[in-house]
Amino acid sequence: MKFTDFNLKDTIQQAINDAGFKEPSPVQKDAIPLVLEGHDVIAQAQTGTGKTAAFGLPIMNQMKADGTVEGLVIVPTRELAMQVSDELFKFGRRSGLKTATVYGGTPYGRQIERIKQASIVVATPGRLQDLLMSRRIKINPQFVVLDEADEMLDMGFLDEIKNIFTFLPKERQTLMFSATMPKSIRKLAEEILKTPKTVSITKAESTNENITQHYYVVQERERDDALVRLIDYKNPDKCIIFCRMKKEVDRLVSHLTSQGFKVSGLHGDMEQKQREITIRAFKQGGVDIFVATDVAARGLDVNDVTHVFNYHIPFDSESYVHRIGRTGRAGKTGEAITLVSPNELRTIKKIEKDVGTKMVTQVIPTRQEVQNTKSDELISQIAGTQITERAINLVKTLQHDLDIVTISHLLASMLQENHSIKGKDNIGLGLDEIEKLIERAMQNRGNDRGRGGGGQRRRRSSGGGNDRNRSGRDGRNRNSRSRGDRNRD
Ligand code: AMP
Repeated sequence: MKFTDFNLKDTIQQAINDAGFKEPSPVQKDAIPLVLEGHDVIAQAQTGTGKTAAFGLPIMNQMKADGTVEGLVIVPTRELAMQVSDELFKFGRRSGLKTATVYGGTPYGRQIERIKQASIVVATPGRLQDLLMSRRIKINPQFVVLDEADEMLDMGFLDEIKNIFTFLPKERQTLMFSATMPKSIRKLAEEILKTPKTVSITKAESTNENITQHYYVVQERERDDALVRLIDYKNPDKCIIFCRMKKEVDRLVSHLTSQGFKVSGLHGDMEQKQREITIRAFKQGGVDIFVATDVAARGLDVNDVTHVFNYHIPFDSESYVHRIGRTGRAGKTGEAITLVSPNELRTIKKIEKDVGTKMVTQVIPTRQEVQNTKSDELISQIAGTQITERAINLVKTLQHDLDIVTISHLLASMLQENHSIKGKDNIGLGLDEIEKLIERAMQNRGNDRGRGGGGQRRRRSSGGGNDRNRSGRDGRNRNSRSRGDRNRD
C-alpha cells in the first residue's frame, strides 16, 4: 500500500514526500481511511509506530486553514507536546496550517497569541484547562485527538480531560490513541467518542517488531555486575536503563560513572530546566546512558536509542510496553534487555502473555567472551584507520630504541587497556537452570493461587535453590553448547 492510495490533498501528499515516508505504517494503514471517512476512532498504538501521522494527516487533509482552531491534540507531557507539534508543523506547512504548542510553566501571553493564529493546538491537559476555564481562549475544534490517553490517566488527568470536553463542541470528530487499553480507557472512550471504530493492531504488532527482547536471570546481588557486563558486551550507542526508584537511579548513576561510562540520571522531581539540559545532552551524544524511573521517562522522545535495559522488571505489562517502546523507533531496530531474579520468572511469563510476544532467555557472556568481542571490534577499527604522517614519524622515533614487533605489542597493549573487562567470569544463571526454574515456577503457579503467605514462602524456597543453581552453573560451563551457539550468532 502507498500513501497515494489515500488520495490526500496535493499539499499533504507533498509533505509526506518531504518527510521521506515511503509507505504507511500498520496503524496508518488502518486509521487514516477511517478518519477520512469521518469516524470517531479508538486506536491502540504506542509512540514510534507513526501514530502522529496516523491522526495528523487525515485531520489536516480535512482542514480549511480558515484562521480558526480546527484541531485540538491533547497530550500528557510537555516533551510529547513539542514532539507532536514539530511533526504536525511539517505536515501542515505546505497547506498553511499553523500549530500552537501549549503547556504549563511558561507565560500565557505568547501562547495565547499563537493559539489565535493556529489551525491546530497541541496542549497538555493542565494548561489547556486553565486557559479554557479562565476564558482566556475560546476554541471550537472540529477534530479532537487524545494522544497517549493511558499515560494521561496514569498521570491523574482524568478530571481535567472530562472538564476540557465540557468546553468543546458536541459536533466533532474525536480520536483516541493509547498504547494500552485498560478498562479506564475504554470507559473514557464510551463517554467521549461516538460509535467509534477500533483500530486494534494485533498483540504482536502492539510492541514493535523491530525490538528484540531478551531476559537474563541473575541473583539479586549480581544485578550491577550483570548490567556492566551487558553494557560492555552490547556496546550500545545510546541506552536507557529503567529502575523502579529514584534512590536506585542515583546509586546506578554513581556506579556506572565510576566504571567510566558517560551516564546521567533522570528523576521525576528534577527541575524542568535541569531535565531539559539532561535530555539535550543525551540527544546530542554528550551522554550515552540514561538511568531513569518510569515516571521520569514519560514522553521522552529520543529516536536513536539502541538499547533499553530493565534493571528491574517493571511492576506491570503496560509499563513494560512503554519502556521498551523507547527503542526501535522510526523504523530502526532496537534491543530490550531485562534482568530478572529467579523469583521474578513468573512475572516475565505473565508479561509475555499479556504483551503477546516471546522474550528469549540468554546467558550473560563471560569475561573472555566480552574480551573476544572487544578484540574483534578493535581489529576492525585498526583495519579501518588511515595512517597519518604524525604516526609514521612517531614509529620512526620509537624505532631508535625498539624493534618493530615490540612497538606493535606495546601499542596493542595500550589500546586494549581501555577494553579490559572487569568483574567475575560467570554472572547469572545458565540456560538449563533457567528452564528448570521456569518449569517449577509455572507448576507452582496454580498451587499458589489464593494461598497468600504460603505462595510467598514457596517463591522464597525456589529462590533458595541457590545451591542447586551453583552446581547447575558448573553444569552449564561443561555444557559449552549454549554459550558456543550464541557466540556464533
Ligand atoms: P510517532 O509514532 O508518531 O512518534 O512516529 C515515530 C517516528 O516515525 C517519527 O519520527 C515519524 O516521523 C516517523 N514515521 C511516521 N510514519 C512513518 C512512515 N510511514 N514511514 C517512515 N517513518 C515514519
